[in-house]
Amino acid sequence: MSTASVALSAAEAASLPATMTALVKDKAGPGAVLQTIPVPTVGAHDILVRVDAASICGTDLHIYNWDAWAQQHIQPPIVFGHEFCGTVVRAGSEVTDVHVGDFLAAESHITCGECHECRAGRRHACRQAQIIGVHVPGAFAQYVAIPAENAWPASPSLSRDIATIEEPMGNAVHTVASTPIVGANVGIFGLGPLGLFAIRIAQVYGAARIWGVELSEFRAQLGRRMGAERVLNPLVEDVPAVLLEETGGEGLDVALEMSGAGPALAQALAGVRHGGTVALLGLPSKPMELNLADDVIFKGLTLLGIVGRRIPETWHQTRGLLEAGVDMSPVITDRMPLTEFRRAFELLAGGRSGKIVLYPNQEGGTGL
Ligand code: NAD
Ligand code: ZN
Repeated sequence: MSTASVALSAAEAASLPATMTALVKDKAGPGAVLQTIPVPTVGAHDILVRVDAASICGTDLHIYNWDAWAQQHIQPPIVFGHEFCGTVVRAGSEVTDVHVGDFLAAESHITCGECHECRAGRRHACRQAQIIGVHVPGAFAQYVAIPAENAWPASPSLSRDIATIEEPMGNAVHTVASTPIVGANVGIFGLGPLGLFAIRIAQVYGAARIWGVELSEFRAQLGRRMGAERVLNPLVEDVPAVLLEETGGEGLDVALEMSGAGPALAQALAGVRHGGTVALLGLPSKPMELNLADDVIFKGLTLLGIVGRRIPETWHQTRGLLEAGVDMSPVITDRMPLTEFRRAFELLAGGRSGKIVLYPNQEGGTGL
């Protein structure tokens, strides 16, 4: 299956179909269905994008499985999916800097532009953000309409698989870039796609040594391939004790918590040296209890909450890393047409995959 980006044909630019195939979370319960629905209309400040590739995020698995988080945040019916790249097929009347035929990735957070954070240049922390594929119709579809300001132009030479992972890679770039990494001993807890991206990014940012912590052997192997010197399995190893021993009794300088698992966070706090930093990206599914006095306060730790991507700094950094030749392709383990979504979600749930990329316009769609 070719991963090259696909230019817009003159026929497609001239006339769009009225309907499209989309993966819809149709009801409050597990699963999702492929439906034929109208192609979205485009507002004055919006663009319509033909989705060339859409990758699956852990959040999509929450939505698919209909867990507690999804039950609180998703209102069916909705097309989900928020990591994608594509080609602009329509631009609203007020859109000036994005054009039909442009190839792009997209920021998934639609920010208000008016709240304190947006006005202060911290749009990633917008208090009224709406997320594509969570609050508004998403990209597991042949076409998606988004505000033009969410477009992030991509070079046509970038493969569609790499362009679609710019968004989740940006989460990892934001996490690594949140604290000095040069010469640091770094532990990355949870080697899902984001933790795997973070290993290589931390290497590029100058980490001295990098350890991974992961339950799945499949992902541990990927972690070693991405550059972790050792990946610890918390089921068979005392993670903080091993980290202390390997760092001459000091502990990690920096821990990146990218699993969302309570035990991993406790081990990250215990494995970091006094005065160290723990950056929190993983989303716990429920509130958790921590020994704040001993593990944070008396150790003088810095805890960082990481949300989304800094807009636009993280996007510039992510593009720069890719252009500099940082290779994320080993993290992409599976590629398939959108019509095979069931197999994709089963694979992801089983922990035997890295990033999975879906092609909504191939085999079962209207065809490219
Ligand atoms: P993922 O679910 O694919 O990866 C999490 C990994 O953690 C899995 O490989 C799992 O085996 C591992 N894990 C689970 N328990 C563990 C434990 N006790 N010790 C070590 N590893 C353990 O998720 P992902 O797509 O890589 O995303 C990582 C996290 O970041 C998720 O929690 C996701 O919800 C979150 N996230 C946060 C933001 C944000 O803006 N803060 C954005 C995107 C994703
Ligand atoms: Zn805002």
